[in-house]
Amino acid sequence: MNIRGVIFDFGFTLFEFKNASVENYLNSYRQGLSKSVDKLKNIKIIEDNEIEKLFIRQFTKQRNTNFKNSIKTNSEIPTHNLFRSVLETLGLQKLNNYQYQELADLYHSHEERQWVPLKNTKKTLEGLKKKHLKLAVLSNHPNHNSIENILKKYNVLSFFDTIVTSAKFGTRKPDPEIFLHTLDNMGVKDPRACFMIGDEYGDIIGGHRAGLKTILYKRRIKFPFEREISLTDYIQINDISEILNHII
Ligand SMILES: [Mg+2]
Repeated sequence: MNIRGVIFDFGFTLFEFKNASVENYLNSYRQGLSKSVDKLKNIKIIEDNEIEKLFIRQFTKQRNTNFKNSIKTNSEIPTHNLFRSVLETLGLQKLNNYQYQELADLYHSHEERQWVPLKNTKKTLEGLKKKHLKLAVLSNHPNHNSIENILKKYNVLSFFDTIVTSAKFGTRKPDPEIFLHTLDNMGVKDPRACFMIGDEYGDIIGGHRAGLKTILYKRRIKFPFEREISLTDYIQINDISEILNHII
């Protein structure tokens, strides 16, 4: 069957995190959270140190709970709703949707700066576009704006026909529904006419469940607690540009 489209995972497939380590990852969130807290101080929602401490404690607690639930149920709570929920729990003043989104964007702003494209990302996307393929990004990320901002920053957003995030869709990979939704946005009807390329379990297992052809990009760094892929019929590549060899 002729291939009509390619869906890319974002993190560690198209882009990588500079000096990736759990410590750097957590640090970028810590810095982001302090920006959101500054904003809440500016608009007089947080008025003293006591409230600030309570806020940070509650935010951390709910974020960790959401994270655990998301692994169990594949559900995603977008960061703007996390801020809404934390302010509500603490009985603090309600904000409007625009303000919750602004807090989420500040929270992710440090993380956004750490993502850089892989050496062959742009070249590969150019090669695929020359073949007139539909292209998509499908990312498990709690803030949709962040993914679009990063793609825009490196001038690659226009390559894609759709950007799908778990933040906007509500569930995460490996839920097959988010893959089918992406295919629908691309206008590709038959999942067998599309490749899913990613670096981990959710990409390969989810893509497989949705009926897509799957390609594992074998990143060099290892993550803690990786889930093993219990399949054999998927392609493995060591460089993103190798995908061009698999499109006839
Ligand atoms: Mg990834």
